[in-house]
Amino acid sequence: MSSIARSLRPLARAATASSRRSLRPAVSRATPQIRCLSSTSPRRDAAVDISDIPPTPITHLSETEAMMGEAVAKFASEVILPKAREMDEAETMDPAVVEQLFEQGLMGIEIPEEYGGSGMNFTSAIIAIEELARVDPSVSVMCDVHNTLVNTAILKWGSEAIKKKYLPKLASSTVGSFCLSEPVSGSDAFALATKATRTASGGYKISGSKMWITNSMEADFFIVFANLAPEKKYKGITAFIVEKGTKGFSIAKKEKKLGIKASSTCVINFDDVEIPAENLLGEEGHGYKYAIGLLNEGRIGIAAQMTGLALGAFENAAGYAWNDRKQFGQLIGEFQGMQHQFAQAWVEICAARALVYNAARKKEAGEDFVMDAAMAKLYASQVAGRVSGQAVEWMGGMGFVREGLAEKYFRDAKIGAIYEGTSNIQLTTIAKHLQKQYTK
Ligand SMILES: Cc1cc2nc3c(=O)[nH]c(=O)nc-3n(C[C@H](O)[C@H](O)[C@H](O)COP(=O)(O)OP(=O)(O)OC[C@H]3O[C@@H](n4cnc5c(N)ncnc54)[C@H](O)[C@@H]3O)c2cc1C
Repeated sequence: MSSIARSLRPLARAATASSRRSLRPAVSRATPQIRCLSSTSPRRDAAVDISDIPPTPITHLSETEAMMGEAVAKFASEVILPKAREMDEAETMDPAVVEQLFEQGLMGIEIPEEYGGSGMNFTSAIIAIEELARVDPSVSVMCDVHNTLVNTAILKWGSEAIKKKYLPKLASSTVGSFCLSEPVSGSDAFALATKATRTASGGYKISGSKMWITNSMEADFFIVFANLAPEKKYKGITAFIVEKGTKGFSIAKKEKKLGIKASSTCVINFDDVEIPAENLLGEEGHGYKYAIGLLNEGRIGIAAQMTGLALGAFENAAGYAWNDRKQFGQLIGEFQGMQHQFAQAWVEICAARALVYNAARKKEAGEDFVMDAAMAKLYASQVAGRVSGQAVEWMGGMGFVREGLAEKYFRDAKIGAIYEGTSNIQLTTIAKHLQKQYTK
């Protein structure tokens, strides 16, 4: 608790002064808050034993989680919102925003205090990602990839030496990237062509190209998947740490995109990049297992990003319809035809959020959450697409112009159905689980 209080200090101060309405139920302090809707058998070797905990609504949060949500909401609306449009137009992340994410402890949410992190739980990270996306999905994905993919990889598979060397930097100043996709391998991620070979000095040499790498303009730290034994096919895939500035490492191209424009997405070349033996992450040949595990967790983060985006788009348009715009002598939000659409959208946002929080709680409880993560990502990205599209229409011409944020939410939503597994890939995962469950 003391580590959480320490790390939450800047955020907690902001939370008490927050004037932004909370969209979550008030926190009950009397009852434990961790519970998941589960039909899968629980694994009791988990860090959190939920067997004796009375059921509570899935959207109830612990006091710390609720404080995190309120504080990040305030931070996002005060610090990020004024820059969101400008960063999108410039297709660049403001370095001051990155600095503030570190200062607020949002880049080391699950990193234990002993390594300089915030020492909080996975759900806290999910809440932060959602709240950031409510204001700017580009900032949200920076925080998401850094926390749920990069930091998690080091926490799970880094040696003590790697943890001591890199976690304090990742929590305080160094942005991380996760390099799996390549020109030849997207959905079929393990068809990757980047190769690693052992060097005479006992280290490794990496050669190949990675594509669509988030955070790559801002990052100094890269987790790179390369095949060390192509004859073993995917069982040769190995994870390595590469620092920016290593000879042979270069950013070849920055993509221009439809949405999340302030988030950098680049092609990276590895031209005989030599790294020492200690930059091996985990074990040789285990990279494919690490990538699968990380992406399963990461999908909950993207689902949270999409839920936050849908909420942001909704609030932006509902505020306009219920307060500003009059037609036929009344506020447009008073027309029943509009109200029914608002109600439908709200139900969908709440359903997406329930899927997200349930997947996060199941992960924390050590239960099998793979299908839940896939359902959350699939559904939240569909809801984000639908709601942000409707929100443009609810605002009429004002939704279509680049003065406000409605059209930006709409463009930003599309990526939810693509990265960290396309919607078809999520459907395949869900169907595989169902088939296993129903095959006699
Ligand atoms: C903005 C952005 C940021 C990204 N960030 C990162 C990052 O940080 N790190 C990283 O490693 N990667 C990143 N990616 C890559 C991303 O994960 C891939 O784009 C994604 O996995 C899809 O791969 P693809 O683009 O090659 O599409 P493809 O795999 O070519 O898919 C094209 C279409 O075919 C369908 N399809 C493919 N296989 C099947 C199948 N078996 N069954 C049914 N349908 C199928 C897909 O659903 C899709 O509709 C990013 C991508 C983008 C656009």
